[in-house]
Amino acid sequence: MNTTGHPARVNLRQRLQEAVERRVEADLVRRRREISQCRDARVVSDGQRLLNFGGNDYLGLAHHPAIVSAMQVAAQNCGVGAGASHMVCGHHSEHSALERAIADWLGYPRALLFGSGYLANLAVVQALMQTGDVCLQDKLNHASLIDGARLSQSRLVRYPHADAQAARRQADLHGDGALMLATDGVFSMDGDVAPLRELAAIARDHNGLLYVDEAHAVGVVGPQGRGSVAAAGLGPDHAPLLLVTLGKALGSCGAVLVGQDWAIEHVLQTARPYIYTTALPPAVAVAALAAVKLARGEDWRREKLAGLIARFRAGARARGLHLLDSDTPIQPLPVGDNALAVAAAQELEASGFLVGAIRPPSVPPGGARLRITLSALHEDRDVDALVDALEPLARRIHDSRRDGDDVAASDGVAC
Ligand code: PMP
Repeated sequence: MNTTGHPARVNLRQRLQEAVERRVEADLVRRRREISQCRDARVVSDGQRLLNFGGNDYLGLAHHPAIVSAMQVAAQNCGVGAGASHMVCGHHSEHSALERAIADWLGYPRALLFGSGYLANLAVVQALMQTGDVCLQDKLNHASLIDGARLSQSRLVRYPHADAQAARRQADLHGDGALMLATDGVFSMDGDVAPLRELAAIARDHNGLLYVDEAHAVGVVGPQGRGSVAAAGLGPDHAPLLLVTLGKALGSCGAVLVGQDWAIEHVLQTARPYIYTTALPPAVAVAALAAVKLARGEDWRREKLAGLIARFRAGARARGLHLLDSDTPIQPLPVGDNALAVAAAQELEASGFLVGAIRPPSVPPGGARLRITLSALHEDRDVDALVDALEPLARRIHDSRRDGDDVAASDGVAC
């Protein structure tokens, strides 16, 4: 009992302090880096100029002059904020124009704009799933998909990464309630592509819905950059809902859900992360629309990226660096040990390269890695320089991985 006569409470402050100590102990403290300048593939951070291999601006559109000036003009005309949520009076014609353009690009009947991809994933799963339903997800899905399932109170069942046979077994096993099969199209931390044709067949056989998060795929893979679903020869009949994020290949922020009318309408009517939040500034929608036009039309950006990816992989292989198997701009170099991943990123930084050290819980325990990302802004010489800088790390990474545990099939949450 404490002095108020209630049973002794947990001391929150003490609990947080213990959590801090555990994070320090496990080399899991995260720090935000401050970027003070950003130009092409180069950034200035803490006064140092770095070549950026850590971002998601895959097509190099975040600073494109046509997009920047479209946004400036739009801000002059319609201000810097939407003024309200979509359902009150914050839905502007610029928002509708962007929705139509993305639906048209991807060949889907309808689209719905969200403040972010995180919100959109929460919205979709929470709005469509309910108690008694089954939400089947890849173990390496993005955190927002997993959180959406938790919010929905459906049964969340996770199958081993990219294992469609295991997914089918799970679908057969959990036969009650409605089924949603949710997967990243391109996986954010591994860069590989989901087995979409097999997953679509499972959804079809179970009368379920396949939902694909195309955050790292749209703009980058598939014909005209239409994403991994289009690349697999699938469309709205197989995957009735897709998520397109605007903050990666499209260079700005926000997200657009595209889909069949029946699914989109239900999300619009019921999804709390759609209804109870201020709409994106219309000027951002104008910027995103300008980016869609470039991403759709300028195949040379994807062709250049493909060349850079092939060059980087060949260079890494020649230097004994074992990358994960990926032909997308996400080129992870597994390290294993958290402290070594951080030390490797620091050494690269000292040589002028910005690369993310990704540690649990963003990846499974034992799965720390350098997440190297390529952009159409890079040149061949940039990629060659990075490979040269990585070479001295190869032996240490190799030794550490031999000593360490294998990556556990665990509850890592991609972000
Ligand atoms: N899905 C995936 C696969 C992602 O990688 C991300 C961003 N890291 C999101 C969704 C969330 O998108 P946003 O950043 O627009 O919230």
